[in-house]
Amino acid sequence: LAMKELRAEQQLTVALRIRPISEAELEEGASIIAHRMGEQMVVLLDPSEDPDDILRANRSREKTFMFDMVFDHNVTQEEVYVSTTKNLVEGVISGYNATVFAYGPTGAGKTYTMLGKDSEPGIYIRTLNDLFRAIEATSDDMDYSVSMSYLEIYNEVIRDLLNPSSGFLELREDSRGSIQIPGITEVSTTNAQEIMQLLTKGNKQRTQEPTAANQTSSRSHAVLQVTVKQKSRAKDINEEVRVGRLFMVDLAGSERAAQTQNRGKRMKEGAHINRSLLALGNCINALSEKGGSRGQYVNFRDSKLTRLLKDSLGGNSRTVMIAHISPASTYFEESRTTLIYAYRAKNI
Ligand code: ADP
Ligand code: MG
Repeated sequence: LAMKELRAEQQLTVALRIRPISEAELEEGASIIAHRMGEQMVVLLDPSEDPDDILRANRSREKTFMFDMVFDHNVTQEEVYVSTTKNLVEGVISGYNATVFAYGPTGAGKTYTMLGKDSEPGIYIRTLNDLFRAIEATSDDMDYSVSMSYLEIYNEVIRDLLNPSSGFLELREDSRGSIQIPGITEVSTTNAQEIMQLLTKGNKQRTQEPTAANQTSSRSHAVLQVTVKQKSRAKDINEEVRVGRLFMVDLAGSERAAQTQNRGKRMKEGAHINRSLLALGNCINALSEKGGSRGQYVNFRDSKLTRLLKDSLGGNSRTVMIAHISPASTYFEESRTTLIYAYRAKNI
């Protein structure tokens, strides 16, 4: 019955978050070109058009996109968490898998959504808190163990962000065909503060790359993997251990994907990012196909990221993609390609 209920719920949710315009963008003379219209729609204006004309002759320069939900600068971290991720927790402690992605160009707010800051914590910590709370509420009959690991995939290589000196890690399939990462640090704790510190420290180990715009561009995918193992306490029940896994992924900046396409995949790094974001887009497209047998035409082997997530995309798993854009006119091209990618993820 639980499985039927889960199937009835939406398997794939695509949300869009528009961050507030920044001081720096305002100082550059940028204007706001991305607007939320109602709960599911966003309007993007092409800033190259004469702004006085927009309402009359150039309506076609106004592009609208629909998503399952759209958040703008008025929406809090808590609201984003509650409407996208909170309801995955119940499934994970019942042995189902789920994945939450933050997608978008560098500077659009991915890390803010996932990690946040001490005063405005993001999805990682809120999810873990709820997970521990839910387990406490049920652990009279069940034994649970929760562990987390934090890794990055950079140039198709996996590194342990909780133990960066451990070198490159490999993906293996165990005898049941589920993906493991031998040697990765698995931390079990119920202390939210400690987890936040670990993640913040781990995040500083991410492979960064300065860009011309004086920012840091994240070229790696950061993956927080939370594993919940569950066993009945009743002695006469010879039940198998049930495992639910939740992946929360702060993806590499999507601007590389777009740029590399223009330049014919010249840069290896860009090509790798491109490859995994394209592979991911393909997998998610397949998920969104209604009625079709999910995963049939999906090659999870196309990238490390999709291989790692193989068991958590499709089937009974639930997937949430939160795409991010800046509202600033200076981000027009990145915003446009991000909206198209995220829209296609849901609709093709
Ligand atoms: P990304 O991870 O996509 O490169 P960041 O999360 O680092 O982008 O965000 C870029 C900057 O914008 C950071 O200074 C961050 O604090 C700020 N920011 C992003 N989203 C929000 C938001 N929703 N509210 C307030 N500040 C935000
Ligand atoms: Mg980031």
